[in-house]
Amino acid sequence: MVALVRTTDRGLFCEAGGFYIDPWKAVSRAVITHGHTDHARWGHKRYLSSPTGAVVLNARFGRQVEGLIDALPYGERQRFGDVVVSLHPAGHVLGSAQVRVEHASSGETWVVSGDYKTQDDGVSEPFEPVRCHTFITESTFGLPVYAWRPQAEVMAKMNAWWRANADAGRTSMVACYALGKAQRIMAGLDPTIGPILMHGALARCTAAYREAGVKLPGVAVATQESVRAASGRAMVLAPPSAVRSPWAFNLVKRNAVKDLATAMASGWMQIRGARRRRSLDTGFALSDHADWHGIMSSIEATGAESIGVTHGAIGPVVRFLNEKGKHAFAVPTRWEGEAGAEEGGGTGEADGDDHQEEQGLLLGEGGDA
Ligand SMILES: [Zn+2]
Ligand SMILES: [Zn+2]
Repeated sequence: MVALVRTTDRGLFCEAGGFYIDPWKAVSRAVITHGHTDHARWGHKRYLSSPTGAVVLNARFGRQVEGLIDALPYGERQRFGDVVVSLHPAGHVLGSAQVRVEHASSGETWVVSGDYKTQDDGVSEPFEPVRCHTFITESTFGLPVYAWRPQAEVMAKMNAWWRANADAGRTSMVACYALGKAQRIMAGLDPTIGPILMHGALARCTAAYREAGVKLPGVAVATQESVRAASGRAMVLAPPSAVRSPWAFNLVKRNAVKDLATAMASGWMQIRGARRRRSLDTGFALSDHADWHGIMSSIEATGAESIGVTHGAIGPVVRFLNEKGKHAFAVPTRWEGEAGAEEGGGTGEADGDDHQEEQGLLLGEGGDA
């Protein structure tokens, strides 16, 4: 068996098709699983993504990718060199795709999952398992301790927390990633409790969801005026980097907010220490990645006899699968052993997802930058 996809210094490479999947350095043909910063870079000559993924890329990169994106609808097949490529919903964020690569003559089939989750979040195209010989799975939360509660239950808790804060005249602020998590939360919040406001960094991605036809409640940009006008009843959504920034402190200092309750929505909130380190009042374990059971059931559903493991708890997942008699192997990414996350500062984190969060936790205070 010849590897259809292999790791190179530019990213996952399919030599038979002449393209890279989510490359981190500029290449001539990039197949993009989804719009998070650790997967989608600008600077490639051509992009291939799902149509809604293209809406997200355009929202994130604007002119930098104008005319460079080829949109391939889910399930449609396109030939590249000696392989046929198709994209299939990954359930991670709007437009997220698993990449199926089939060798045109041998029929050998690989699927690269990208980031995925099995729970239907109501704002992303739901995950579909795809049969293949080799499945390359992400493993961000690949430990048995990670077991998500249903989204409706987590959102009911968040709404109850918001309502209690609002009744006490306390503004609520939830840290969430700008692409995916923020819109998922917007869709699940109860707008009868109070106004939903967002940090400006969430506006572009939110507009992309609306453009793609996702129904979201009305959400205004959080300014000192709009927060003050809500008289303590507002729910403010903000990227993780903004919650303990001068922007948030100014809301308090300028008396737009009398009292502020903070939380973060992330899979990492299932572990108590993660919340303490960020000095948040509470946390909601809401992840856009598969939990342990989701990873294992997805692997089973592919029917793959060979499993590549990347992006996260590689060692534990590889060992577990090998003990179960499967052929599992590590697929290294540039994140492994690399402390200096390029996305660490500035607005990068706003567009990222749980991989960056993990970097922050590993670096101690890094995630609070
Ligand atoms: Zn992602
Ligand atoms: Zn990722």
